[in-house]
Amino acid sequence: MTQSEKPSLELLIAAPRGFCAGVDRAIQIVEVALERHGAPVYVRHEIVHNKYVVDSLRAKGAVFVDELDQVPDGVPVVFSAHGVPKSVPAEATSRGLAYLDATCPLVSKVHRQSERLVAAGQHILFVGHEGHPEVIGTFGQVPEGSMTLIETVEDAEAVQVAEPEKLAFLTQTTLSVDDTAAILEVLNRRFPAIVAPKADDICYATSNRQEAVKAMASSCDLVLVIGAPNSSNSLRLVEVAKREGTDAYLIQRGDELDWEWLAGVGTLGITAGASAPEALVREVVDHIATRFEVHEREVKTAEETIVFKLPRGLEAA
Ligand code: SF4
Repeated sequence: MTQSEKPSLELLIAAPRGFCAGVDRAIQIVEVALERHGAPVYVRHEIVHNKYVVDSLRAKGAVFVDELDQVPDGVPVVFSAHGVPKSVPAEATSRGLAYLDATCPLVSKVHRQSERLVAAGQHILFVGHEGHPEVIGTFGQVPEGSMTLIETVEDAEAVQVAEPEKLAFLTQTTLSVDDTAAILEVLNRRFPAIVAPKADDICYATSNRQEAVKAMASSCDLVLVIGAPNSSNSLRLVEVAKREGTDAYLIQRGDELDWEWLAGVGTLGITAGASAPEALVREVVDHIATRFEVHEREVKTAEETIVFKLPRGLEAA
């Protein structure tokens, strides 16, 4: 098929999309650790939820493990961007392991808030998704029983607390902005004295990516979100597009695209979750361009300039 015979496809590319400052920092921490210490560098859990990123770091000498007992003595270990329960660095210290904490500073902020609230005698209602590493990490900052997980509006309606006047809420950083607002509305109605953080803890990157998809989706016949199925913020982007009335699919790589999805599509929206590198966006666009004459346009709703410093000792020499 020659270029002129290809059907035409408008591509709207959301901005901001892809890597956030926390993911960028976490990847840099593993790379700098590899440079300074040499391979292998162990990483507890996927450093960020993206197979492409994990495979690239593995090729450079990173070894990904589920638990610390898989890390041999005497080698450095990095904790993932999602954060870890306090028991993990404590165990590393007790074994004399040198560890580097790649927890996103915005997750660490929630950790410190949880400690302060519990120290002040508050019980915390934590809005998040059960089983997500960030939720496990945040629950692991405070004694058992001092935090209750709220996943849905129904949970918020049903939760019973012993002392409603000693209550606070915190949230996971990668939630749906709209769903969280609905949950918080219920909590504020049921518990008027509930202590709120200054703003909810959904991070700037999550909010910005959702806002960008919202702005673009209604102009599209279909939206593709590039991200991993275990990436919370990527899954939320699919939901946001669908809520705007536009069908959406999550794909990890170009070869996961089903050409049948594009039948009858004149305008296609593309975005990427906070752990998906720009290389994957280009890969998907190039793949589409093998069958369509694509006309790209970026739909930008915010400028992101946030950069997080590397931990002390790892800054550029
Ligand atoms: S999505 Fe937000 S909280 Fe998570 S690593 Fe990125 S900036 Fe940090």
